Amino acid sequence: MITDFLDLGLSTELLNAVAEMGFEKPTPVQSRIIPLLLAEDNDIVCLAQTGTGKTAAFGLPALEYLDLKSDATQVLVLSPTRELCRQITQDLMSYSKYRPETKIVSVYGGANIVSQIRALKKGAQIIVATPGRLLDILKRGEADLSHVRSLILDEADEMLNMGFKEELDAILELLPAERRSLLFSATLPKEVERIARSYMKNPTVVTVGERNAGADNVEHFYYMVREEDRYAALKRIADYNPDIYAIVFCRTREETQKIADSLQKDGYDADALHGDLSQAQRDSVMSRFKRRSLHILVATDVAARGIDVNDLSHVINYNLPQEIELYTHRSGRTGRASRSGVSIAIVNQREKGKIKRIEEVIKKKFTRLPIPGAKEICERQLTHLINEIDAAEVRNDIEAFMPLINELWDGMTKDELVRKILSYEFNRFFDYYRKAKDLNIPEKEKPVSKRKGDNGKTAGPDSSRKIRKEEIGECEAGFTWIRLNLGYKNRIEPRNILNIMKALGIAKKAVGKIEIFHDHLYVAVDSSAAEYVASEIDGASYNSRRLKAEINL
Ligand code: ADP
Ligand code: MG
Repeated sequence: MITDFLDLGLSTELLNAVAEMGFEKPTPVQSRIIPLLLAEDNDIVCLAQTGTGKTAAFGLPALEYLDLKSDATQVLVLSPTRELCRQITQDLMSYSKYRPETKIVSVYGGANIVSQIRALKKGAQIIVATPGRLLDILKRGEADLSHVRSLILDEADEMLNMGFKEELDAILELLPAERRSLLFSATLPKEVERIARSYMKNPTVVTVGERNAGADNVEHFYYMVREEDRYAALKRIADYNPDIYAIVFCRTREETQKIADSLQKDGYDADALHGDLSQAQRDSVMSRFKRRSLHILVATDVAARGIDVNDLSHVINYNLPQEIELYTHRSGRTGRASRSGVSIAIVNQREKGKIKRIEEVIKKKFTRLPIPGAKEICERQLTHLINEIDAAEVRNDIEAFMPLINELWDGMTKDELVRKILSYEFNRFFDYYRKAKDLNIPEKEKPVSKRKGDNGKTAGPDSSRKIRKEEIGECEAGFTWIRLNLGYKNRIEPRNILNIMKALGIAKKAVGKIEIFHDHLYVAVDSSAAEYVASEIDGASYNSRRLKAEINL
């Protein structure tokens, strides 16, 4: 394997630019792909994770072969999101720093199509595009792909996940048959295989690193909490890590926005990144995050895909992703460029199996961590604060004000002063953590029905979901009754209840007896899931009826 850029067969201008970017040695994907692209002409399917250096792997050979005397579009790069398009374009421009006549244009949705068309008209030897926008432009007859010699599909799996199947098919049909195709994907689902089969000629498959293996320098941890403590746990993690610089992954846009809003309200430098935001909003969020004026970016998988931020302290899975492969992408956002990284998952008791399945796929073990309590967090924060004060530079400017300061603080002892300054900064933590309960679930969780601890004055928001006196008999051992305000009069039947449970991810075997009365009913649920079920159902609506769920104590 070639371990020196000089031996790859690239021109000096490109090598100089790459050296200036601080690339010392080619990454494995670059060592494998670049010589193949330069020496042969067959199609290539390359399976490689995020962060492995794919952009230079396809970008340098593409630039090497570009005919700078022609303005025709010779290279087409398709990529799933506008952020990725912009990033690829910027990278290509950096590599071609010493070939300033190179013409690279990117086109993507969410930006003015007219100015993109204008840019294309000035000549685009390389087009970097999202499939949707490119197809719009092609339909207007404003791009000419008849001279494309090289097609690059970047993050092909993600393009298909995002529903670009039809656009891709339409674009690929239009390309000249005499071309070389290169497809990158982190995973190889059926749809990606179909694209490779239909539009590529006998591709050589190059797998870099073990498929689906987690990055080696990423450590995986999980915190186990009751479902309703998920957000509180996130705050503890953030508070325990005063220097946090993290992406928090959520499953949906709504959840992403909700968590970002809550964090902001609670005083964190956090914001949301998801597809419902305008391009301008996304740009602003990303630039604040890159500048580190935002410390926590709450994002959906799609929005965060390909974002190039190298020095994250943590990746946090607020929820585990629906598909295990997404976990690999998420954790691949940390531990990049040979730094060590930390990937954290917040899980409820029912999700332990999922951790096991992820471990099998990434071939690495998770370590369960206890959720830090008030004392640990306050110690960490205080130490951090004192270190920051310690590190502050004392400038001469302060001298002019010392007489005033001495006067204002006349008679104050050092001891008093220290207490005051630290309290000034720190009271918010003391206030919050004075009331903080232990979020950890005991190794052997007592059945929910016996959890009396939460019932007193300090009981959390869930106390209203507890039934105090009961009319119904015992349910099966290991199960807990949940009372719902639905009954015969709402035409409820057991199968409706089973459907609700199914929608919550509760297996049939975790649902026990169901007793339906005139205006309410009882359903027995596996005790370990009872809190979760009650909290999910409570406040939700069913046939436009607002549901109330209570746990039988
Ligand atoms: P991918 O497309 O595989 O996710 P990128 O091409 O975005 O990865 O590269 C990830 C990061 O690694 C970028 O910040 C890039 O600048 C950096 N990088 C790429 N190749 C090298 C190299 N040979 N040496 C050092 N850093 C590199
Ligand atoms: Mg990439």
